Amino acid sequence: MTFKELGLSSAILKAVEEKGYTKPSPIQEKAIPPILEGKDILASAQTGTGKTAGFTLPVLQYLSETKHPKYRPLRALVLTPTRELAAQVYDNVREYSKYVNIKSAVVFGGVNAKPQIATLRSGVDILVATPGRLLDLHDQKAVSFKRIDVLILDEADRMLDMGFVREINKLISFMPAKRQNLMFSATFSKDIKKLAEGILRNPISVEATPQNSTAKKVTHSVFKVDKSRKTEFTIKLIKDNNWNQVLIFTRTKHGANRLTQKLIKSKISAAAIHGNKSQGARTKALKNFKENSIKILVATDIAARGLDIPLLPHVINYELPNVPEDYVHRIGRTGRAGAAGEAISLVCSEEVEYQKEIEKLLNEKLKSTIVEGFEPTDTAPPKRAATQSKGSFGKKKNASNSNSSQGKKPKRKPHFKGNKSNSTSGRGRTGAPKKKRF
Ligand code: AMP
Repeated sequence: MTFKELGLSSAILKAVEEKGYTKPSPIQEKAIPPILEGKDILASAQTGTGKTAGFTLPVLQYLSETKHPKYRPLRALVLTPTRELAAQVYDNVREYSKYVNIKSAVVFGGVNAKPQIATLRSGVDILVATPGRLLDLHDQKAVSFKRIDVLILDEADRMLDMGFVREINKLISFMPAKRQNLMFSATFSKDIKKLAEGILRNPISVEATPQNSTAKKVTHSVFKVDKSRKTEFTIKLIKDNNWNQVLIFTRTKHGANRLTQKLIKSKISAAAIHGNKSQGARTKALKNFKENSIKILVATDIAARGLDIPLLPHVINYELPNVPEDYVHRIGRTGRAGAAGEAISLVCSEEVEYQKEIEKLLNEKLKSTIVEGFEPTDTAPPKRAATQSKGSFGKKKNASNSNSSQGKKPKRKPHFKGNKSNSTSGRGRTGAPKKKRF
């Protein structure tokens, strides 16, 4: 299968070629044709599978083919959980839209809103945004959603974990009811399914990898180590193996800072990235890590999603996450786009239950090793794993069938004329307030 056979236009093909992609990834092969037909999509795909191009390419093509000659209303919106992911998706959108007359922008919190407002006012076709800042900008009347044709929820599971449900529903309440919805998620908890039922209309289910499974080429290993010796062990691992680019996850911001300081003391260049760091510090740390001017990036789960670090060879779970799905997200950072990777977890006696929950989710036993000189002596009892992630939703309405392959619908028409949107679609939105006029 080639990109051309998927029905993409020559302008899009040219940009894809420049990126050096020779053939579509499995998720692109499955998602692009139905998206071009205007169908709703529920896609199971982790970062690293090429999902961004999977939704961006067909949406750009649709936008450019249905462009109004004079006006440039906002017609496509990509919502992402983190600022980093928003910035990264935006970079992709810009690259893929090089040869089409489509304007894109990105907005997220933690930085000055004024330039964002100016950009939005100048006219944007496709916007990438984090929910909180976008809602603020909408409240300030800097942006209108009245002409939204396509809504994309990227890493929807993470958005729920981060408690963005209310914002998402509010944002949707300002959009026309008739629109295309594309939802991407790495994991499918009950909550995510509920959210999908509320938003998607007869979605086509697309799966790039089996649900809740990790990338195939990642080798997982567990080292049993005492809690108090994890730092020492981490330093040994990095030094003995001469590793040059390692992403390390800790459970707390505090823990991330502490480990980073100890690594630096041991002459291993490192930086921490987490929610208490300013946007500037986060961007700088990520840039230095990507450019290899620091060896180690220590991150909390908030940074687990959306970091595009191609061919990241090693991920260390300094502590196991207590929500098993987070393990899948974390190790999605390694073994990317078909490359091999290594995920190492340091497990102390308190984390044995967490490991069991992860193994249950993966349906795979993780091989445990004890290293000479680091034999565990901890006797602290195991802590219980959280089996359910946070987040609650409104009532479920009109559950839609997944995997519909019903009668063909005609291709979509653009909405630029007046957008009589309210008349259509029995799609039930969860707890959405009444539409407001912008
Ligand atoms: P994503 O899952 O969207 O974060 O993409 C992961 C990485 O795969 C990014 O570095 C993309 O540039 C790259 N990528 C996306 N599509 C392809 C493709 N068809 N062939 C090779 N690399 C790709």
